Amino acid sequence: MTKKPTAARQEADLRKLLDVVRQALTIPFDTFDYDRRIFDRATHARTALTAVATETDVDLPWEINYLQRQLAAEEQTAAEREAAHCRRCHTPFDPSDPRFDGHARYKDTTWCQACIDNCHEGSAEHVCLICEPSRYGGEQQ
Ligand SMILES: [Zn+2]
Ligand SMILES: [Zn+2]
Repeated sequence: MTKKPTAARQEADLRKLLDVVRQALTIPFDTFDYDRRIFDRATHARTALTAVATETDVDLPWEINYLQRQLAAEEQTAAEREAAHCRRCHTPFDPSDPRFDGHARYKDTTWCQACIDNCHEGSAEHVCLICEPSRYGGEQQ
C-alpha cells in the first residue's frame, strides 16, 4: 500500500506541474515553426492536465516527469526539423534538387543554394542573414 502524500506535498507538486505547463506553453514568438511547436506542446500539456483533472489518486511526480520527458522529446524533434530547413528562407532542403539556385543544401552550410546564389548575386546595397549575420541579431557579433 502506498502512502498518501500530505496536502502540503500535493500542493507543491501541483504548483510544479503548473510551472512545467507554463514553460511548455512559453516559447518565443519568433521561434522557427512556432505554430506547429506550440500545438505539439499544448497537446502534451493537455494530456497531463487531463490525467490530473480526471484520475483519482493521480501520481503528480510521475505526471510531471512524463510531461518533462515529452517536452524534451518535442524539443529534439523540433531541432531536427529546423536543421532540415534553410535558415534564411525556411524552405526544407531538397537534396534531389539539381539547380544551382534550387533548394538543395549549399555544401555543409545552413543555407540553400537559392539563398547563397541570391546573396552572391546581390547588388551593392544587398545585405542578408548570410553576409551580414550581425545585422540580424546573428551569433557572430
Ligand atoms: Zn534558403
Ligand atoms: Zn547576402
